[in-house]
Amino acid sequence: MTVTPAVSGTAHTTLDDRLEGVYEAIVRRNPAQPEFHQALREVFETVGPVVAKHPEYVEAKLLERICEPERQIIFRVPWTDDRGEVHVNRGFRVEFNSALGPYKGGLRFHPSVDLGIIKFLGFEQLFKNALTGMPIGGGKGGSDFDPKGRSDAEIMRFCQALMTELQRHIGEYTDVPAGDIGVGERELGYLFGQYKRITNRYESGVLTGKGLAWGGARVRREATGYGCVYFVERMLEARDMSLEGRDVVVSGSGNVAIYAIEKVGQLGGRVIACSDSTGFVHEPTGIDVELLKQVKEVERLRMSDYAERRGSGARFVDGSGLWEIPCEVALPCATQNELDGDAAAALVRNGVIAVGEGANMPCTRDAVRTFREAGTAFGPGKAANAGGVATSALEMQQNASRDSWTFEHTEERLLEIMTDIHDACFETADQYGAPGDYVTGANVAGFTRVADAMLALGLI
Ligand code: GLU
Repeated sequence: MTVTPAVSGTAHTTLDDRLEGVYEAIVRRNPAQPEFHQALREVFETVGPVVAKHPEYVEAKLLERICEPERQIIFRVPWTDDRGEVHVNRGFRVEFNSALGPYKGGLRFHPSVDLGIIKFLGFEQLFKNALTGMPIGGGKGGSDFDPKGRSDAEIMRFCQALMTELQRHIGEYTDVPAGDIGVGERELGYLFGQYKRITNRYESGVLTGKGLAWGGARVRREATGYGCVYFVERMLEARDMSLEGRDVVVSGSGNVAIYAIEKVGQLGGRVIACSDSTGFVHEPTGIDVELLKQVKEVERLRMSDYAERRGSGARFVDGSGLWEIPCEVALPCATQNELDGDAAAALVRNGVIAVGEGANMPCTRDAVRTFREAGTAFGPGKAANAGGVATSALEMQQNASRDSWTFEHTEERLLEIMTDIHDACFETADQYGAPGDYVTGANVAGFTRVADAMLALGLI
């Protein structure tokens, strides 16, 4: 499977009049949601040829229906901090689409969370989940709660307050939340505990990303990072290359980044830098992933603490500049719009050959354009980071059958799923005259799966 890199011209940037009209009407109706508009625009720019080929999609107004969430829930979350002071946060759950299965997607706790952010994430999730081939619809939720600096007891009270309302909307067959930024195993534990207490049901399948002792699945913790690296490895293979001996730069140092770093090492590459919201560490001999886990996962400290413990080989740089470090593979694994056009230009100048989005929409529109025009192998998040949610679907499968698989078997399934996603994107891009363009491949393949299911289910 060898490919000629995508060249400029395969990246559609103008829409035909009908699509432009639909897009503008949605933007007008959903003001002040720039990230949602950005996610929509990218899909609109690539699905034109599919819609043109399927008059039944147009007649059923599928594009318009797909862009309108089935349900949007916003609620008050009052809680008290350790000093007894009352706080009021906002909780969200956007149930985007359930044509393929129960709504599925994470919860994000971050001060930047608002309805537009949750809608962009839910929209991406819908196509991502369709690409996994698993029976899961798309949803997303979270809160503008800032977990930074909060004690364990405060985190627990906040999670209990959020679940007190959220529990009436979710369920094994309805909507299955998981983690995202700011929500990991600790938070999911408190959320599951409160769900169990209120409903009086040990309903394991209502949440995924659970701890192993209480219904969790092996490999779920590693899955997003591992899956992203598998996807990049497949993109390189399609160009008769591999990760072996390559220098890799990763942004972030959370769940996705840590396990991406681990898998790059296992496949013979070397991660020479990673970051957090304060700055980055450059370590030319390779990041020590075990120390990184200790510092970030166990002690919940910063990258500067990691650098301090590593000594002279690791340099901490306060601020930006991560993407100026020369590398052959770049994995943005932090957050949306973290890698802009200038950063992409620097990476291309320094000879990057592959980029895999471990986070959701980490590359700006300018950055994506730069990579596609340069012929860089570019794996968009909805394909490259689908390993997390795919393994969540495996967790649901194990919960439903009250079974628990081995690490090896689960990882084998993850590898198969990521390979299938890669091949589906690759082949679809080819069919639609954009060889090697995984953005077109992912959007068209995901859209078609959702659209066909919606058509079959009638006007609902
Ligand atoms: N938050 C993750 C994502 O963006 C995982 C969602 C899940 O496992 O449901 O895909």
